[in-house]
Amino acid sequence: MNANELKDRLKNLLPVFEDQEKLLTDLDREIGDGDHGVNMLRGFKAVDEKLEGDTVADVLKSCGMTLMSAVGGASGPLYGFSFVKMAQKAEDAVTQDNIETLLTEFKEAVAVRGKVEGGEKTMYDVISKASDKVNDGQLPTKDELQQLAEDTKDMTATKGRAAYFKEQSKGTIDPGAQSAVYILEALIGGVR
Ligand code: ADP
Ligand code: MG
Ligand code: MG
Repeated sequence: MNANELKDRLKNLLPVFEDQEKLLTDLDREIGDGDHGVNMLRGFKAVDEKLEGDTVADVLKSCGMTLMSAVGGASGPLYGFSFVKMAQKAEDAVTQDNIETLLTEFKEAVAVRGKVEGGEKTMYDVISKASDKVNDGQLPTKDELQQLAEDTKDMTATKGRAAYFKEQSKGTIDPGAQSAVYILEALIGGVR
């Protein structure tokens, strides 16, 4: 996946988040403040308008800076910072061989920025497990990514707004875990 193909895949997240806005908002209404769909849609509208760069690194950085300023909420800085960190490890093209480096960086960035670990019912559960699978030499399918989000249903939230719901957060997919499925599919689907 070269810079232009990456740009296309990131811009194509606009129609994805348009379609999924209601789902993400409904999930966040259950265990948060009901704005995750709106936040992500605002972010990827800005990405569609502003994404620039002639190299993979510049495209990832542009995406990160745009998400940081446009998304807001807890998720904006987490996704924004992650793309900026991935940009620092980017090569000329994203390939089956080097995507593990990017996803490891994604995982580390969320862990550091979110002070989060596995099992806390956040986007990290999907990002870290997807990254681990890629490091084990498999590229997770869309369905496998979705299953990672479904797995957050049984967890009790201990980070972010959902933590206020304690045990009552059980039974709902974490909204950020669900949005991470679409973002990871954009990246991994580009080399699968
Ligand atoms: P806010 O909670 O500020 O309204 P969003 O609704 O946009 O922000 O994003 C909520 C998502 O952010 C959660 O579903 C969760 O996946 C993620 N999140 C929140 N806090 C953290 C954290 N400390 N580490 C990792 N992810 C987090
Ligand atoms: Mg929210
Ligand atoms: Mg909010």
